[in-house]
Amino acid sequence: MLLNSRAVAIVFGVTIAGITTAFLGLLPEITGTALVVAFALSFSSSYILLRILAEFLFFREINNIYDALNGIEKNDITFLTNRSSSFLNPLRKVKNEINDYARIKQREIDDLKRMETFRREFIADVSHELKTPIFSAQGFVHTLLDGAVEDKKVRGKFLKKAAKSLDGLDLLVQDLLTISQMEIGQIKMHYENFDLVDLCKEVIEQLDGKAEKKEITVEQSFEKEEIYVNADFQRIYQVMINLVNNAIKYNRKNGKVNIHIATLDAEEKAEIKVSDSGRGIPEEDIGRIFERFYRVEKSRSKDRGGTGLGLSIVKHIMDGHHSRVEVVSEVDKGSTFTFWLKLGSPTQKISWEDDDEYDKDT
Ligand code: ADP
Repeated sequence: MLLNSRAVAIVFGVTIAGITTAFLGLLPEITGTALVVAFALSFSSSYILLRILAEFLFFREINNIYDALNGIEKNDITFLTNRSSSFLNPLRKVKNEINDYARIKQREIDDLKRMETFRREFIADVSHELKTPIFSAQGFVHTLLDGAVEDKKVRGKFLKKAAKSLDGLDLLVQDLLTISQMEIGQIKMHYENFDLVDLCKEVIEQLDGKAEKKEITVEQSFEKEEIYVNADFQRIYQVMINLVNNAIKYNRKNGKVNIHIATLDAEEKAEIKVSDSGRGIPEEDIGRIFERFYRVEKSRSKDRGGTGLGLSIVKHIMDGHHSRVEVVSEVDKGSTFTFWLKLGSPTQKISWEDDDEYDKDT
């Protein structure tokens, strides 16, 4: 059936003009010419009116609805128009509803696609990272089994290398576990008041040997002798170890590392800065270094034994403390990592009200 606005307008126009002319024909003194003129006038005016009404209120909206449905079928929402007023036309309301539905569905599809890509990339990254230490330990063990075990000197050397690879594997699995537990909210922050200066001194002591090996001077500039914060001691210790370890690892020989703590009383926060005089981070990489497994110089950092997860863990811990970590860096000059913690007091136990908000969010 060929149903369009013109056909509808002609049918209704002829009907209206016919009825009008028939009624006029009942008048006794009416002439034939007057009847023809009346028919022509009422036909043309009703045709124009009906055509406009049918076209704009009916057929155009129905065509839009068809286009929308076709688009949904083809997974293409570019045809969607903006929401328009449905005051005059109920069909426009239907079209708006379909548009909204299509937009929501498209968003859901996009989210699912993003999650799928993320999952695929994560599995690929983890497999790649696991492969290196497993292959290398496997290589050493097989070489030993193939006869190298007889040679006492080679045996010791190869066993040490295999053990080092397995230690790296253990570190990687531990970091992966930490990250995944943080992401699914299994790790809660245990807030307590502790002296940050004390914590930093412990960290420096622990990494002293590493710094000495590279002849790096670790300087400390603490605004006060004691600076109490309200945070998770273990996690902040982990943050400091990661940042100071990186500051040593990516530093040059005879370089400097500085740990600075200041109090921002107005904001009731402590500001912690870990600076180094190392190779710095190129501008194009700065935005990505907190992503898991992201390394600026991939092969070189692997040689240095990093898992590529340290900064990602730091970021998660700071998120868990409702705070943030920032980095400023210049290639060949050095980098400064800064983070902030809520000030605490040695006597009063402060506990954040929204302690477990992070777990719900993540
Ligand atoms: P990794 O185990 O590789 O050290 P991280 O997550 O700790 O992993 O760091 C990610 C990357 O960021 C490193 O591979 C390195 O390229 C870069 N990076 C981190 N800290 C520094 C720093 N202090 N100076 C220069 N580059 C750094």
